[in-house]
Amino acid sequence: MTLHAPYDANNIFAKILRGEMPSVKVFEDNVALAFMDVFPQVEGHTLVIPKGVEARNFLDLPEAALGDYMLRVQKVARAVEAGLKPDGLRVVQFNGAPAGQTVFHLHFHIMPVWEGVKMGAHASGSMKSAAELEPLAARIRAGF
Ligand code: 5GP
Repeated sequence: MTLHAPYDANNIFAKILRGEMPSVKVFEDNVALAFMDVFPQVEGHTLVIPKGVEARNFLDLPEAALGDYMLRVQKVARAVEAGLKPDGLRVVQFNGAPAGQTVFHLHFHIMPVWEGVKMGAHASGSMKSAAELEPLAARIRAGF
């Protein structure tokens, strides 16, 4: 899908927001939802998505929504750091399929990095169950 295609309300993250698909949540308020990536590149791989906007990517996000959303991205990143104590943290975001985007509702990836632990490739991990993700989510929730 290109950078400028219409928003598809049936994308997987829109379904998660509507409660039509399950997710292992770590944070939710009226601005954003954060949940565990089911194909994590590394343990603790977390996604933060905005609510109340039909934004496929960062370019689409209305300026009025930008500040509140980015505050949540930072808040979740801090909780991942506090909960999992990584050595580093990647905060990554892809725009358009040629750039690597595979789900077309805006999201930031928050990926802990541990020295000596190899991170998997983007969009190529094996699917994790809710039972596997929940202990990591609990540690992140405790980090808020
Ligand atoms: P993108 O490739 O668009 O930057 O990132 C999409 C992310 O969503 C990928 O890291 C992928 O593993 C994750 N993902 C895809 N489908 C699902 C799903 O159904 N649930 C969750 N929690 N994550 C998903």
